[in-house]
Amino acid sequence: MEPNKFTILGSSSGVPQAERNSSGYILDVNGRLNLIDCGGGVTSSFLRRGFNPLDINRIFISHTHPDHVSDLSLFIQMIYLTGREGKLDIFVPDEFVDPLRAYLYAVYIIAEKLPFDLQIIGYEEGLIINDDFKLTAITNSHLSQYSEWVTRLNLPNKMQSHSFQIEVGQKRLFYSGDIGSFDDIREHLDSNNFVVMEMTHFDIEAFFDLAPTIDVGEFVITHLSGNDEVSKLNLMARKAGMHNFSTAVDGMELWL
Ligand SMILES: [Zn+2]
Ligand SMILES: [Zn+2]
Repeated sequence: MEPNKFTILGSSSGVPQAERNSSGYILDVNGRLNLIDCGGGVTSSFLRRGFNPLDINRIFISHTHPDHVSDLSLFIQMIYLTGREGKLDIFVPDEFVDPLRAYLYAVYIIAEKLPFDLQIIGYEEGLIINDDFKLTAITNSHLSQYSEWVTRLNLPNKMQSHSFQIEVGQKRLFYSGDIGSFDDIREHLDSNNFVVMEMTHFDIEAFFDLAPTIDVGEFVITHLSGNDEVSKLNLMARKAGMHNFSTAVDGMELWL
């Protein structure tokens, strides 16, 4: 049986970086690839790691900020130009189904014309997949910062943002996506082998106070800016006496 792994294709924050691609991850279970988020540079990063577009099984999008979706149409184009025939399911927050369909028509990716069945499936909180692995969406407050504008302009946006709990056999990996506060995810972290999380949207001092009390195999921090931030985080982790802390780089692999 092939080993299962989680590969970081893009570890950049929302501010594009020269040295990092925007958010994107490959969950490889039994040789079938699942793409999680698809920000800028993810398509070329995918190819750089030697992955085959024909091995993509499903795509999951945590929320619709550009650094998580801007490469999505290009990724789909790559899949069909490579000669895909099997069905492709793309799971997106419910609010994104209609805008994504309209956008794909606008960029001439016409689902009805494709040689494979492209399904855009809206999801809300809860279990999304339960077969060769389990993926559960957990709603977080990352986009609630927009509520005033959504109300004022009467926008259709539902401000849906999610973290993902992933279970592959006995192994557990938690992907924070982008969050609104550490409280969004705290209660979900215990007994995960890996927690792949961002640290830009909450009080990091409070995290380092709490982290030693949380039962996690390894915290892998992603959604990073420049080297100064990376050095600062690693220094804080050392001061907190954490041995289960690392900062992500593009191409990093976590074995499940
Ligand atoms: Zn982001
Ligand atoms: Zn975001």
